[in-house]
Amino acid sequence: MIRIHVLIFMLTAFIMLATVVYIATKHKIKNNKLNISIVQLLVVASITCIAYTFAITSQVIEKAEFAYSLYFASVDWILITFLYYARQYTKIWNEGYSAPLITTTIAIADNISLFCNSRWHHAFWLESQTLPSNEWFFAFRINDYYVVHLIFCYILVALVVAILLKKTVLTSGFHRNRYLSILILFICLILLNVLYLFFSFPIDISLCFYAIGSIVVGYYTLMYNPKTFVEYMLTTITERMECALLSFDENDTCIYSNQFANRMFCPSGDKRLLEERFRKWKAGRETNTISNSSWNDIYNFSGDEYRFDVHFNKIYDKKGYYCGCYFSFYDVTGDFLAYEEEKYRNSHDSLTGALNRESFFEEVRRLLDENPNTEYVMCCSNIKGFKLINDMFGAEEADKLLVRAADTIRERIQPGSAFARLEADRFAVLMPKVRYTEELFMTGMNKISNYLNNAQYRMTILLGVYDIYDREAPVISMVDGAFLAIDSIKGSFKNTIAYYGDMLRHEYMSEQKILGEFEEALQSGQFAMFLQPVVNMDSKVTICEALVRWIHPDKGIVAPLSFIPLLERTGYIYKLDLYMWEQAAKRLAYWSSIGRDEISISVNISVKDFYYVDIIETFTGLVEKYNISPRQLKLEITESIFMTEKERQLEILNSLKEYGFYIEIDDFGSGYSSLNMLKEVPADILKMDMAFLSMDKNAARGRKIINTTISLAKALGMQVIIEGVETKEQLDYLSGTGADYLQGYYFSKPLPVKKFEDTYL
Ligand code: C2E
Ligand code: CA
Ligand code: CA
Repeated sequence: MIRIHVLIFMLTAFIMLATVVYIATKHKIKNNKLNISIVQLLVVASITCIAYTFAITSQVIEKAEFAYSLYFASVDWILITFLYYARQYTKIWNEGYSAPLITTTIAIADNISLFCNSRWHHAFWLESQTLPSNEWFFAFRINDYYVVHLIFCYILVALVVAILLKKTVLTSGFHRNRYLSILILFICLILLNVLYLFFSFPIDISLCFYAIGSIVVGYYTLMYNPKTFVEYMLTTITERMECALLSFDENDTCIYSNQFANRMFCPSGDKRLLEERFRKWKAGRETNTISNSSWNDIYNFSGDEYRFDVHFNKIYDKKGYYCGCYFSFYDVTGDFLAYEEEKYRNSHDSLTGALNRESFFEEVRRLLDENPNTEYVMCCSNIKGFKLINDMFGAEEADKLLVRAADTIRERIQPGSAFARLEADRFAVLMPKVRYTEELFMTGMNKISNYLNNAQYRMTILLGVYDIYDREAPVISMVDGAFLAIDSIKGSFKNTIAYYGDMLRHEYMSEQKILGEFEEALQSGQFAMFLQPVVNMDSKVTICEALVRWIHPDKGIVAPLSFIPLLERTGYIYKLDLYMWEQAAKRLAYWSSIGRDEISISVNISVKDFYYVDIIETFTGLVEKYNISPRQLKLEITESIFMTEKERQLEILNSLKEYGFYIEIDDFGSGYSSLNMLKEVPADILKMDMAFLSMDKNAARGRKIINTTISLAKALGMQVIIEGVETKEQLDYLSGTGADYLQGYYFSKPLPVKKFEDTYL
C-alpha cells in the first residue's frame, strides 16, 4: 500500500515538474509574474510531494523526522506561492501590498521552528504505525506548537479563498468558471488535507490531487478561453461594425446578418428576404462554384445613393469541405464623394465651375477622337479691356461678371460640348458645328454685357471662332487660332465675332515667317533707324524721332506696324529696341563730335521692354558708353505701361528723370486714363496725335480739346508736341495754340539717317 502511494506521489511530482517544463518552454516566463507564480507553485508542490514520500518511506527515525519537517515547512511555501499566484491570477491585491513580507517572515520563522523539532519535539513527534497491510512507517503525532503552524497555514488559506471568492463573484458570467474551478480545486485539496490531519487518515492523500491541481491551474490560467465568451465578443464586434455582414450556410440558409445588414436589406428582420436576395444574386449558380470576389455596387436608401465595396468569400472547414459563405459590404460613399470632389476641383475652375485649361484640352481631345464623324468649332471669347473693368468696378464685380458669363455660356451649350475658362476673362467652347449660330452667341454676349453697361461704360465681348478642319492638330493651336481671330478685330468697334478663316490663317503663317526671320535680320543689320524731324515754332529742328524700318531683302522697306505689334505680342520687341536705342545713342555721339549736340533724338519704349530689360541700367549705360548727355536722348512711353505694375514703372521713370532724361508721353489721349497719367507721371513733354482728333468731322470740338490739353500741359509745366501734322491749315491753326513743337508729313516723313543729316544738320 505504501508502495502504491509512493508511486502515485512520485508520478504527481513528475507531472508537476513536467508542467513546469511545459510552461517554461511554451510560455513566456521572463517578466510575466503570473507564469512565474505558477512555476514557483508547482516546484514547491513537487518538493512537498517528494518530502512526504521520504517521510513515509524512511526506516530511520532521524531521517523521517527531517523529511516531515521539510514536508510541513514546504506546506507554508505552497500556500504562500498559491496566495501569490491567486493575486496575480485575479489581479486582486496584486500590486503594492506589504503582506508578502510579513507572510514570508512568519514562514521563515515557522520553518526554523519546524527544523528544530528534532531537538524539542515541540511541533510533532514520530511513532511507528502499522497499516492493515502489515506494512509499517513513521507516522507523526502533533504537539502544542503545531497549532501555531496550522493557524498560520489557515490564515493563508483564508486569504486565498477570499481572493478567489471575491473574483468569482465580481467577474462577468463568461469568466466565472476560470476562478470558480480554481477555488473549488483549492478547497478540495484543503478539505482532503483536513481529513488527513484531523480524522486520523494514515496517509495524506491530498498530495495525489496535486497533479490534477497543477493541470487545472495550468489549463485555466494559460489556455482556457471560454467559447461562449469568444462567440459573444465576435457577435458584439460584428454587430457594431460599420459594415454589413451576411453569412449563409452550405444550404444557403442565412445564419447571420448584423444590424447594419438588416438595416440595409431587411428592416423587417425576416431572414427569408435575405435568402431570396442571395438566390437572385446567384442566378442559378451553385454557391460553391462561385469564386471569391469583390466589386463596387450602388444602393439607394430613402432616396440617397450609397456606394459600397462588396466582398463575397467562401468558408471551408479544416478538411477543406465547403461549409458556408459570407458577404461584407463597406460603405465607401464618403471616400467616393471626396474623390469626386477632388477630381472636380482639379479639373474645374473654382470661380466659374467651368473646366480648367488642362482638362478642357483633354476633354476636347476626347470628344474629337470619340466622334470622328462630327464636325466641331472652337469658339473663344475675350472681354475687351477686362483690366479696365477690374480697375473701374473692382475685382469683386469683375468676378461676378465672369461667373455670369460662365452661366450664360453654360445655358447655351449642350451635352457633347466642352466649356472652359482658360484664364482671366478667356473662355473657350468646343461645340458641334451644326449647333453653332452667330445668333446663339450674339444673344449670349448681349446678355452678359448688359450686366455692367451703364452710362459711362459699354462692355464689348469678342468672339473668335476656329473651324476645326485639322482635327489631329494640337488643341492649343485651335485655341490660338480662335484668339488670333479675336486679335484681328480688337481695333474694330463694329465687329465682335471673327473667324479663323483663310485670311487669318494666311496672316498667321506670315507672322510665323516674320518671327522666323527676325533674329537673322537683326544680326545682319536689316533694321534701319529713320529719323523724323520735330520742328519748333521758329521752324527749327531741335528734336527728331527715331522710327524703325525693316529693309527687307525681298519686300523692300517694311513699315513698323506690320511687325512691331507682333514682336510686342511675342516678347521679342526688346531686342529690336535695344538695337534702336544704341543706334540713336551712337548717332548722338557722332553729332556731338561734330558740334551739333543741340539736336536730340526721341526713342520709343514699348511696354514689354519694362519686363525684359533693366531700363535704367540700359539707358544710363548708353549715355555713359557714348559720353552723351541724357537730355539728348528723349524717352517716349505710352499710357499702356500703366496697365500693370504701375508703382514699379513709376519708380523706374522717376529714377530716369532724376538722372536727367526727358520723359515724353506718346500718343496722349488714345488710352483710357490719360488724365490720371498726367497727374502721376513725371513727364516733360506731351505728344498728341492729330489723327485722334479727326479734325474734319468735328473740327470745332477737336480744336477745343487740343487747346484745353495744351493749356493743361502748360499748367503742369510740360511742353507739347503735336504729331501727325499734314496740312498747311493744321499748321496755321496750331501756331496759335501755344504748342511748342510740331511733327508730321507736312514737314517731313521719317528719313534715312544720312538724308536727315544732309537736310537738317
Ligand atoms: P509713333 O510712336 O506714334 O510714331 C509716329 C508714327 O506716325 C510713325 O509711324 C510716323 O511715321 C507716323 N507719322 C509721322 N507723321 C505723320 C503724319 O503726318 N501723318 C500720319 N498719318 N502719320 C505720321 P511709323 O514709323 O509707321 O511707326 C508706327 C509706330 O510703330 C510708332 O508710332 C511706334 O509706336 C512704333 N514704332 C516705330 N518704331 C519703333 C521702335 O523703334 N520701337 C518701338 N517700340 N516702337 C516703334
Ligand atoms: Ca513715338
Ligand atoms: Ca505717336
